[in-house]
Amino acid sequence: MKKKLFVNKLSNKNPTKDITLDDIKYKIPRITEKKKITVKVNDKVSFSSGKIPIIAGPNGVESRELIFKVAKFLKKSGIKILRGHAYKPLTFPYRSKQYLETMDKGMDWLDEVKRHTGLSIVTEVTEIKHLDRICSTADILQIGSRNMANLELLKECAKTNKTIILKRHYGASLRDMFGAAEHILIEGNSKLILCERGITSPHTHRETSRFLLDIQAIVAMKEIINFPVISDPSHASFWAPWVTDLALASIASGCDGLIIEMHPKPEQSLVDPLQPLGFRKFSELLIKSKKVARAIDKKVC
Ligand code: PEP
Ligand code: MN
Repeated sequence: MKKKLFVNKLSNKNPTKDITLDDIKYKIPRITEKKKITVKVNDKVSFSSGKIPIIAGPNGVESRELIFKVAKFLKKSGIKILRGHAYKPLTFPYRSKQYLETMDKGMDWLDEVKRHTGLSIVTEVTEIKHLDRICSTADILQIGSRNMANLELLKECAKTNKTIILKRHYGASLRDMFGAAEHILIEGNSKLILCERGITSPHTHRETSRFLLDIQAIVAMKEIINFPVISDPSHASFWAPWVTDLALASIASGCDGLIIEMHPKPEQSLVDPLQPLGFRKFSELLIKSKKVARAIDKKVC
């Protein structure tokens, strides 16, 4: 009896901001499809249940030297996926003189480092016009939170048939995020990974902490969808000393992967220098993550 009432409530007759049964049936059938999903990026990397791949690297591909240094360290640490953006949206238009996007030059460095180390590459796509260049190097396209609902960009990224990480906008509901995901899936590309990266909230518990990692979103997503859900505690907290604990909480909450921002000298990072982990802190995160993953029969890779 109770259950019936619940189902009745979950109808568009009484629309809510949450996901209704009608939504699942008519608006987001693909993203909520009930089947086991493995996202195979390439022969070396896949996202599937039981595994927790870690994606790590600096915010921007600042220089050839930086990206080689980070990549070599990651390779030695057993990490398989390097992140770094050559094209990079910033919240405010006044870029510091030191921080200009490295664009095609940055992509060339990523290409070189990929050939040298065999690491797979994640990089952000900000505009359709950059797609050809990005696709000749990247294994995974990142759609940043600010572009979550840029539907033309989503469509063109989907058409490349590359694996896509779709980050949730910090003000978007899961319903809206699933709608954006559906735009990708409808193009026939199901190599899709969803990323929780923090939300706006009246309280973030530190002046410098811009967002709040929505752990509950990880659990809620895993209840509704079978696509991999990864967590980015770096962009959520904006505060390196919290990143490890939030990463561990994400693993315990059932995430299928992590994005961790890192830099050999965090204080010298050209953007968000409070956010990246240094090498030593990253190694600690890795050791602890492996322990927590083991406790729930998963494997960090
Ligand atoms: C990033 O990954 O560097 C980034 C800016 O992420 P987000 O879009 O989540 O802010
Ligand atoms: Mn960043």
